[in-house]
Amino acid sequence: MPVAIRPHVFSLYPLDEETIALAERSFRITCPGDEGHELWYTKADGIMVRSQRVTPEDVAKIGPQLKFLGKHGVGVDAIDVKGLSAKGVVVTNTPGVNATAVAELALTLALAVARNVPFIDREIRAGKTITKQAGGEGGMQLTGRTLGLIGGGNIGFTLGKMFHGAFGAKIIVYDPHLSPAMESAWTAAIPSYRRVTSLDDLLPASDVVSVHVPLFDSTRDMIGARELRLMKRSAVLINTARGGIVNEEALAQALDEGVILGAGLDAFSTEPPTLAQFSSLINHPRVVSTPHIGAASLDVISQTAKSVVEHLRDAFAG
Ligand code: NAD
Repeated sequence: MPVAIRPHVFSLYPLDEETIALAERSFRITCPGDEGHELWYTKADGIMVRSQRVTPEDVAKIGPQLKFLGKHGVGVDAIDVKGLSAKGVVVTNTPGVNATAVAELALTLALAVARNVPFIDREIRAGKTITKQAGGEGGMQLTGRTLGLIGGGNIGFTLGKMFHGAFGAKIIVYDPHLSPAMESAWTAAIPSYRRVTSLDDLLPASDVVSVHVPLFDSTRDMIGARELRLMKRSAVLINTARGGIVNEEALAQALDEGVILGAGLDAFSTEPPTLAQFSSLINHPRVVSTPHIGAASLDVISQTAKSVVEHLRDAFAG
């Protein structure tokens, strides 16, 4: 009887021990440093990539044995999917796995801005005495407020459930392309959620506006000066999606003029964000910034890597 040959998968990024153990149940796994990196072109039956680029030049070097590419995360913009498909390589990704991590960060940013925590913390560290006499230093509560979600997909939905569960918040969603499956999920989880047909309906009604759409030409600068002026003066804007969806110049100006209360940003038009480039936002007392760490929790990195392994296992099993 012929002996079945185990597929050989090269991961182009480091994996934790649990993920390696899971992979080894189904295939032979080689991680960076185990062997010469370039060997994957000719030896790998499958590869795992996280932020690595797979360019047309890479694709040209790939041998006929490569069958599957497993992408850690959702975006495949750094991968020559067309070139791989032409060579018969199937690309898989892991939608939805990081939704909780990103939603948690969006919630953290909303609370931090609304309750003024990082600003007060900096003031105390600088030796200032904060008195409560003026009132309002502790910011705005989120309980009973309205969350406006731009994009009601995996992350928007997860955040909506968190706000509804934790704060009894009303949830409104602007998403003209919401899938029927997500629509059913929304109605099952939060029957009172409301879908609106324009940003002009969502923005004036929301206390927190959170952006969860992909960056397309059609979503670039979706939130500009006009949209910011439609928001409440007491509102908080959160962007954990992509830089470029919120116009940064318009946002800095709106914050300076008190058009909105504040902003929490995990996405910038150039990343990683630097103080030199984004000082008007990063240094603003009402802005809390993080450098695209939404999906970078330890839990989610390991969980996503396991999901890549499972996709490859199923793909090899046919
Ligand atoms: P998803 O595909 O599940 O949901 C996106 C939603 O946006 C869909 O329901 C879609 O119909 C909607 N949409 C598309 N175009 C729209 C438009 N013009 N107006 C309104 N809605 C529109 O994606 P997701 O998993 O929820 O992720 C959302 C975005 O978050 C991603 O595209 C990505 O850019 C970003 N993201 C950021 C991090 C991070 O680390 N900060 C991690 C993962 C994803």
